[in-house]
Formats: sequence, structure tokens, C-alpha cells
Amino acid sequence: MPMSIAPKPHRPTDLKQPVGKKPAATKPRAAKTPAMNLAEVRAFITALAGANPAPRTELDYQNPYTLLVAVVLSAQATDVGVNRATKTLFAEAPDPASMVALGVDGVARHIRTIGLWQGKARNVVELSRQLLERHGGQVPHDRDALEALPGVGRKTANVVLNVAFGEPTMAVDTHIFRIGNRTGLAPGKTPRAVEDALVRRLPPEMLQDAHHWLILHGRYVCKARKPECWRCVAAGPCRYRAKTPPPG
Ligand code: SF4
Repeated sequence: MPMSIAPKPHRPTDLKQPVGKKPAATKPRAAKTPAMNLAEVRAFITALAGANPAPRTELDYQNPYTLLVAVVLSAQATDVGVNRATKTLFAEAPDPASMVALGVDGVARHIRTIGLWQGKARNVVELSRQLLERHGGQVPHDRDALEALPGVGRKTANVVLNVAFGEPTMAVDTHIFRIGNRTGLAPGKTPRAVEDALVRRLPPEMLQDAHHWLILHGRYVCKARKPECWRCVAAGPCRYRAKTPPPG
């Protein structure tokens, strides 16, 4: 007589947890910081302005061309590291013609200590060649022309337009993106959304310098891991709920 084989009990394939264990509790997400109102936005940026009335970029440069090259080199690198590299690079190649003559290998010799140096060396030589061919060796005062250069995106173009040409642009880097969302100054899901919110919400006459105030604030006070709220001049209007208490 044939033996009957009893089917194994069916186990649903979509069970993610081992049998007998409770599903892991999902960690509650921190509540989003509510957006500041416009009076708070003005108070926040005025407080930063009061602490640093004449802000400037921490990148070393001599003219729009060396600024452009320094900003292209600064992606995923510290300003200190870029300054160390450009000190010798600009001594040897202070303009587009000498940079093209130096060539990719020659540029690479100076910038090997900073991140992504191989691609950056190629971009610096190629953008210098394009400046000579298309713009008479000058840095164009034009967003589209800047963004058409190799290695130059919206953020780099915004820095050059702001610092070299005095335009009220807002270059959103990791610090400004964090501050915009953490404090309620300019909430947005993407750097472009934060940029647009800042341009819309900041007092127009403060917009040009706001770029520096916010970057420096993010770098030295409103840091990524642990904002130093106890010594923050803008703590009053800031709407971040979990402010860091004084140490000790
Ligand atoms: S109070 Fe804290 S979170 Fe708010 S801006 Fe200052 S450092 Fe940043």
C-alpha cells in the first residue's frame, strides 16, 4: 500500500519575522522643525550678520578665474586642503593659458592631496581651454555659460556669481541644506528647494552675504552631529526643538 506523504504546513512567504518573535518596533521619526515666519527669518540672519559683519569665503583666490578653479577643486575637499594645493598651482598657472600649457599631469602634481583629483585635473584644464576658445580667457558673468563648463554645476556657478560678480545668489552646500531644514529657516527636500526658499524668504538686501553667514555658521556652530546651540547667537529665532544644552 502506497505511503501518503502529508504536505508540510504552509508558511506565508511574506513573513519577514522569524516565527514566534514580535515584529521589531519602528523607531519614531523626529518631528520636522516647523518653518520660521518671515520675522524670525530676518531675526535669524540679522543675528548671524551681527556676529560677522564682513564675511568672506575661506578659499584663497586672486581674481574670478582663480576663484572658479578653487571652487571646482573644493567639491568633497576642505577649504584648507584646497588652499594648500592652489598655493603652488596658481604660482605656476595663474591664468587659463598657463593652466592649459601645464596640462592634466602638471595640474595633478599640485592637487593630488585633495579628493577626486584625477577628474578635477582634467576639468580644470578643459574649462581653461574653453574659457580661451569661447570667452576670450575671461570667466563669463552668465549662469548658463558657467554651467556649460566642465566640472561646473549650479552650486559652483552660484558661488562664482555671488563672490566674483556680487550677485545675490545662494549656493546650497551640505551646511546650508542642513541649516535650512534643521532650524526652520528654509525647509526643503532638495538643495534646489532650499535655495529657492532662501531666495524667497531672506531679506533681499542681505541675500548676497547670507551665503557666507550660513556656510560659516554650519561649519563652526550649527554642526552636523552636534549643533553648539548653547553658544549660538541665533538660538532665539531658531525653531529646532532639540537644542543642545551647555556642556557639563
Ligand atoms: S540654536 Fe542650535 S540648531 Fe539652532 S541655529 Fe543655533 S546651533 Fe543651529
